Amino acid sequence: MKLGEVQIKTYLSKSKIPGIAYSINPYVGCPHQCVYCYAEYMKKFTAHTEPWGTFLDVRRCQAPLHPYQIYHTQVMLSSVTDAYNPYEKDFQITRKIMEQLVFCQAHVQVLTKSPLIVRDIDLFKKLPSFEGALSFSSADDSFRQLAEPGAGSVEEKISALKTLHENGLKTAVIIAPIFPQITNWKEIIRLTRPYADRYIFDALNLRPLYQKKVLGFIMRYYTDKLPLYLSIYEDKNPAYWQQTQQEINAFCQANGIPAQADFRHVFKPSVNV
Ligand code: SF4
Repeated sequence: MKLGEVQIKTYLSKSKIPGIAYSINPYVGCPHQCVYCYAEYMKKFTAHTEPWGTFLDVRRCQAPLHPYQIYHTQVMLSSVTDAYNPYEKDFQITRKIMEQLVFCQAHVQVLTKSPLIVRDIDLFKKLPSFEGALSFSSADDSFRQLAEPGAGSVEEKISALKTLHENGLKTAVIIAPIFPQITNWKEIIRLTRPYADRYIFDALNLRPLYQKKVLGFIMRYYTDKLPLYLSIYEDKNPAYWQQTQQEINAFCQANGIPAQADFRHVFKPSVNV
């Protein structure tokens, strides 16, 4: 991993995510190396020539966050990196930002695939509101090792979720991206249900930048499923996601899980597929 530093003027980026005012990305790059990484486009804003996933820049900012900017404002970490990647253990840049968020009394949501999130529980408890969201694309760690080799294991993420929950903090489980005929979303729910306050679902959405890479991954490791993937992503057949959306919503309703899957953005052929 090539490590570096960049200076920035502010940590705050306006967010287009509903309900989130700002996102904060303490790093450029991400060592989790997810095969489907949607953040790879960030590389064009850097001088890096190395492949995405092999460099990590710490973002340093001289100007501290101030309450007049974000007092009781919803802030999310992170949108194009993982703030709790393993290098954070040494850099502690996310922790320093979290201390500022406590000072500003911002409402904070953290999205991560890393068990390191539990390190900052002492700070999360001092915020006016906090939600820790752990993301799972599979309940099977052998798939996780192939698809997200740098991320925390399934077991580590469940343990982190449990620790957050036992500390009285709000938690969410993000079941995403759902890989057709690979992601066992019912098993993820079974394993995490005691510790999850809510669930969010998202489908594997293959944007042009990484469609070839993900289909190559399926061809290499899950060859028998390739015809289905070609039907969904090359022929743009919406049936699979329509059916999966119905199954998830029926399951959640039957089991009292307050969640609603909405995959229309994936199976509308004119959008991103
Ligand atoms: S954790 Fe997010 S940003 Fe990091 S590699 Fe995976 S998808 Fe990309």
